[in-house]
Amino acid sequence: MKICLFDIDGTLINTAAAGKDAMIASFQSTAGIDVLTTEVRVSGKTDRGIAQELFDAHDMPLTDEAWNKFLSSYMAGLARNLPLRDGRVLPGIEALLNQLAERDDIVLGLLTGNVAQGAYLKLTHYDLMHHFEFGGYGDQHPDRNDVAQAAKDACEAHLGHAVRGDQIWVIGDTANDVRCARAIGAKAAAVATGVFLREELAMSEPDLLFDDLENADALLAELTG
Ligand SMILES: [Mg+2]
Repeated sequence: MKICLFDIDGTLINTAAAGKDAMIASFQSTAGIDVLTTEVRVSGKTDRGIAQELFDAHDMPLTDEAWNKFLSSYMAGLARNLPLRDGRVLPGIEALLNQLAERDDIVLGLLTGNVAQGAYLKLTHYDLMHHFEFGGYGDQHPDRNDVAQAAKDACEAHLGHAVRGDQIWVIGDTANDVRCARAIGAKAAAVATGVFLREELAMSEPDLLFDDLENADALLAELTG
């Protein structure tokens, strides 16, 4: 039994900033701020962590009430933006997921910084959600390593038994994806379809490194060998 935990943005899909723009607009309306005083970098981070950075940078407390208000406006904006943007499923993903879905010794889950509802909205829009039965999400944890543990826990709950870290492959487009894989003892496959170059990703020392997943034979060999 092998487990694949997929990141979403920059790995499965590119939403053409539908999510980032919805998040910034939501923060502006929640906080009553027209212009941000900070640059927003989202790659490899969790939604909770990004919200925390935004609120901190503007000297505002991220209370539960503020988070809930931020989240509902962010989700509404994301749902609005997705069909308006020229986003896409990234190269090779549909074929790879279809190939993995045929095997009963491989299970597919999500390991994403997106909040669960955001992951659902994005992957439903791009018709990929049906491939994933469990996941770790960015609702609670600012640190992606904690999301990795949540994804492993969700996998074990889904399967009804414990899994070892070395049964798990984390597939993502940032050094944070590789780091969070190590946090749960998992293998890491990095793919340069996000904002980071292949050379930059190489520095995080993933087990496998791809330009894109159009030719994922090396990963398939590891999963099925
Ligand atoms: Mg990503």
